[in-house]
Amino acid sequence: MPASVGAPRQMLRRLREVMAEHESAQARLDKVVMLIASNIVAEVCSLYLRRRDGSLELVATEGLNPGAVHNTHLKPGEGLVGLVAEQAEPKQFADAQHHPAFSYRPETGEEAYHSFVGVPILRGGHTIGVLTVQNRTMRQYGDEEVEALQTTAMVIAETLASGGIVSDEVTAETRRDSNARFTGQPISESVALGHVVLHEPRIVVTRLIAEDAELELRRLQQAIEDLTGQIDDMMERGDLARAGEHHEVLEAFRMFAHDHGWRRRLHEALATGLTAEAAVQRVRNDTRARMLRMPDQRFRDRLHDIDDLSNRLLRFLSGGTETAATGSLPEDAIVIARTMGPAELLDYDRQRLRGLVLEEGGVNSHVAIVARALGIAAITQCKGVLEAVEQGDAAIVDAQGGELHLRPTQEVISAYADKVRFQARKQAQYAALRNVPAMTLDDQRVGLHINAGLLFDLPHLDQSGADGIGLFRTELQFMISSTFPRLDQQTRLYKSILDSAGGRPVVFRSLDVGGDKVIPYFRAGAEENPALGWRAIRMALDRPALFRTQIRALLRAAQGRELRVMLPMISDVSEFETARALIDRELTILKKHGRTEPSKLMVGAMIEVPALLWQLDNLLPLTDFVSVGSNDLVQFLFAADRGNDRVSGRFDALSPAALRALRQIVLAADRHGTPLTLCGEMAGRPLEAMALVGLGFRSISMAPASVGPVKAMVLSLDAENLRSRLDTLLEERKTSLREDLKRFAAETGVQI
Ligand code: PEP
Ligand code: MG
Repeated sequence: MPASVGAPRQMLRRLREVMAEHESAQARLDKVVMLIASNIVAEVCSLYLRRRDGSLELVATEGLNPGAVHNTHLKPGEGLVGLVAEQAEPKQFADAQHHPAFSYRPETGEEAYHSFVGVPILRGGHTIGVLTVQNRTMRQYGDEEVEALQTTAMVIAETLASGGIVSDEVTAETRRDSNARFTGQPISESVALGHVVLHEPRIVVTRLIAEDAELELRRLQQAIEDLTGQIDDMMERGDLARAGEHHEVLEAFRMFAHDHGWRRRLHEALATGLTAEAAVQRVRNDTRARMLRMPDQRFRDRLHDIDDLSNRLLRFLSGGTETAATGSLPEDAIVIARTMGPAELLDYDRQRLRGLVLEEGGVNSHVAIVARALGIAAITQCKGVLEAVEQGDAAIVDAQGGELHLRPTQEVISAYADKVRFQARKQAQYAALRNVPAMTLDDQRVGLHINAGLLFDLPHLDQSGADGIGLFRTELQFMISSTFPRLDQQTRLYKSILDSAGGRPVVFRSLDVGGDKVIPYFRAGAEENPALGWRAIRMALDRPALFRTQIRALLRAAQGRELRVMLPMISDVSEFETARALIDRELTILKKHGRTEPSKLMVGAMIEVPALLWQLDNLLPLTDFVSVGSNDLVQFLFAADRGNDRVSGRFDALSPAALRALRQIVLAADRHGTPLTLCGEMAGRPLEAMALVGLGFRSISMAPASVGPVKAMVLSLDAENLRSRLDTLLEERKTSLREDLKRFAAETGVQI
């Protein structure tokens, strides 16, 4: 006897009234199950919620023995209810008692009922409960009925999550783990305790049941239109890297957004009487639940896309424009994101930013570099964290051990409080070395410089006791402004940098944009391989006006002081010559206008494109200095994208291949008497820095926080001893010399 579902909308309307009543949680849930039973024309309707131990507890029933409420518990996977929970999808059986999974519970009196339908109560794709309906007859439940049950289940889930029906008796574990630990790759060295800020905040849906169905339909259609427009726009502009999004991610977005199945499901959810927001949430939950159970990892990887897309859609629906960075931040913010661009990190108030956790991205990506410059505790490749985290959770980022603790227990908090104290003691030791020159045991002076990019980096120069700024990344000023910084703005920044450096050398690198360093207001067009594309000096030579303005600003800022300019991504000697000619022309103009010229102008090249290794004898006589950009050089040597975590860690800068290339540069610089330094991230890691000194580098440049640890290493190293050890090691056929170098350090007492 097929029963009619009645009007699902009507049922939802009643449901909303029941939920809003000023009664106890138990009384309201009792009414909910009664309401469903009468609408579906069923003798039984029961609600089970998941407890902390994973069991499902019967919390309300219409039709089963009332005495079983709060007394019947099903173990995970037990019975048909457990089956629905485990598979997170609706199940129905005309003859439930003969199903192999049926678990007989005498206290419930359910032996009288043959047909059974159960739907999961989902939150974030995970089952937090089960709603069931039973009938005496062996009946088949219609699609509409199952659909209505699912919608009801969603309303229950959202109301539970918002704390709307929680009491001592009725609670559900909406979270799978109370405290959780994740691992990732360290970006910096420090440890931070704080509270989670989601970079892409999740919108909490509070209005679930529609009052005006027509209006909700129009809202949904408009939001979908806005969303697809936004994605198409982003793809066209090619400004993906600003959002830290790879092209393929946006492709996936576009595919989903245009997917008819997805749109159909949204409309179906809407037709059951939900608001547009609730329909989006409902479809997200169902899709997540389905994908989470797919055996193929590739599908599970796509979960993020569903979440991002649903979030974007919800943002359009809520009309909100506030981002996490512009919203109110806790005093001790730990920002968690799938990925982001460097400029987005700089949008956050630095005074309140303690930590950064990313799910994706290499440790040498530009956002990682900015995180290091900010001196915050940061880790990347922290898989699965977004799935488990909620806004405002307490968190500990341990960037030394590459760990994240969410909702830590008191013991973990105390252990880390000790670690933070230890860190402070260590910092005090490094601070004591501030005025000690970095001299090896065999009297080799090693210049330690810092990498900087913004004015806020400057205090680090004094705090760290560094010898100067070995790399000033001028592009950061461009990346964080909303229009091209004008000549006078650039001049002002460069002048303040030179002022604060107080005579210590500063190497200004000319604009290095392209790759993942994107200027939002400058449309360069999408590129297949941006890291190999139109970037840095290539852009400067094609758009000389931009380059010349920057050089003019630098020359003006110098005002009789020494000026060092460094050119990035030189691949061919002729590029250096052309750029140098442009610089000389600007110098002539400066003099013609009667402005003070720099006391000395030094122009250097970055060695970060492998082709230069075979042009060193042509290049070095033309340059005043050179600096190895090991981040790019290593990525290009191994053809392994530094921003792609699948490959960035695959090859080691401490491999004989990379170290031989570096040694070749040292030998060439010695031959030509050209000052040489290295300013990639490896310079800031004590073990890597040790290898560099062993190879013959006598000047390196690093994130300010690394100066102390690297100086401690230098002070405890015999460089000549390591040089002779390297002579042998470099001949070995190995993928990495990391372990050998660690052994050397341990044997000879080098502090790494
Ligand atoms: C490098 O490539 O090593 C470097 C220092 O430059 P950037 O990281 O800014 O590309
Ligand atoms: Mg580089």
